[in-house]
Amino acid sequence: MELLTIGAFARASRLTPKALRLYDELGLLRPVEVDPVNGYRRYHPDQLERARLVAWLRRLGMPLARIRVVCELPGARAAAEISAYWRAVETETAARRELADFLIDHLSRKDTDMIDAFTVTAAALTDRGHVRPANQDTAYAGTRLLAVADGFGDLGVAASSAAVEALRPLEDSLPAGDLLGVVEDAALRAGTAVRDIAGPDSGTTLTALLLSGGQLGLVHVGDCRVYLLRNGKLSQITHDHTVVQSMVDEGTLSADEAPAHPQRSLLSQALTNSGEAEPELALRDAVVGDRYLVCSDGLHGVVGEDAVRDALTDGTPADVVRRLVTLANDAGGPDNVSCVVADLA
Ligand code: MG
Repeated sequence: MELLTIGAFARASRLTPKALRLYDELGLLRPVEVDPVNGYRRYHPDQLERARLVAWLRRLGMPLARIRVVCELPGARAAAEISAYWRAVETETAARRELADFLIDHLSRKDTDMIDAFTVTAAALTDRGHVRPANQDTAYAGTRLLAVADGFGDLGVAASSAAVEALRPLEDSLPAGDLLGVVEDAALRAGTAVRDIAGPDSGTTLTALLLSGGQLGLVHVGDCRVYLLRNGKLSQITHDHTVVQSMVDEGTLSADEAPAHPQRSLLSQALTNSGEAEPELALRDAVVGDRYLVCSDGLHGVVGEDAVRDALTDGTPADVVRRLVTLANDAGGPDNVSCVVADLA
């Protein structure tokens, strides 16, 4: 009987010439003849049955080494071998199904957490105060994003507004990825936005909280502060980026002397046209019942912590921001004052 070229044999067996060459190399299906001069492979038509079996077993997903075993067995034992292989596949598939179920559940809940972990009720209020000619603060309260920026210099209003605007898209949609990465990107965007519009003597502070799932991402540069009221206890979460705070940290100034220091509002870090600031980034676990306050130095520069805590202990966020701004203005209102208060339920 006439031998078949590899092309003709491939067509008849529904295997590709490339697969046939591989099976030859593996000893799975050897051609009956290889031309010693040009290396052309030729197959006998009787080999078609084995070739088709190989093709079917490949479609079944059987590894080549096991196919070789099956091909060498007589009919009944080959059938038993295929049957044993398939039982193993089903067992493995069941185990993978469990893993898939776990991942589907895990990722679906992660998504839900991202959006629904807390109900946030927040309010923002910013006020010029009694002394400054304009209000250069910007305050924003959403359901995910809370932010206060304190602008300075001729373009201070534009700078504080640009910094907060750069974060605003996060209120509508959170990009995928880990929260710290999201917060880092947000800080970079804010820095770029300010660098692009601020003049040589202008800039802004920026302190923002981004709520995602059970966590809070913090972006902080400058001397606005975040306070947390949890179980009746007030704690300051942020660390001022001021020259005076650095002196306190270094031990050259006591914490009691700091509030009265003439250079207390001199910033060691701010977003400016140099683009050199390195905002502080952090993640914190949030808890139902937490009440957060983000405020500019117009509040914490003149209203002590005890008064702040008392003002925070009851009322809605809208009540509290009004109360806090009033306290700052009653204390002389020497600076623009901004407060954002948010409750997590
Ligand atoms: Mg200020």
